[in-house]
Amino acid sequence: MKMPICDSCLRGGPLCQKCGKKLKEGKISELDVEVSRALYELAREYRELEGIELERALRERGLTALVVRGSTRIADEKDEIIRKLGERLNTRVRLAESGEEIRKLAQDILAPARVNGVNILFKKGGGEEYRVRIKRTDLMLLPSGIDTLQKIMGEVTSKDIKFVFE
Ligand SMILES: [Zn+2]
Repeated sequence: MKMPICDSCLRGGPLCQKCGKKLKEGKISELDVEVSRALYELAREYRELEGIELERALRERGLTALVVRGSTRIADEKDEIIRKLGERLNTRVRLAESGEEIRKLAQDILAPARVNGVNILFKKGGGEEYRVRIKRTDLMLLPSGIDTLQKIMGEVTSKDIKFVFE
């Protein structure tokens, strides 16, 4: 398990000097600490989680998105783990694999809403906009509001993301 805080801090209590410094300097966030500890606790029940690396955690309006490495290891238990993490963190949770293509990231974060595809739009004056095409009939299945999800997708991918419903 590779987490933003050290093993002894994963167990709880006040952060050690080293991790406390990282928090103070903004290298890690309170959310990183909270999510790391929740994953650590859940790993007692789901040993597969020990192969996971937490890269980043983002939270917007009741949705926590985790960018991880090694999520294929938990593929079989993923839905259950996400649900239990949600209970611990008191938000909905979505898990995305770091470095995946945008379509796959969108699918993981927007589930159970279905993604039809992603188009790249080259904007006048430079830059690209990624249009994530979502099934219109799945609008109600989105795990949070459109603005919130666009923002999270933008942060996860470092791209200009816009949703279109079709
Ligand atoms: Zn520590």
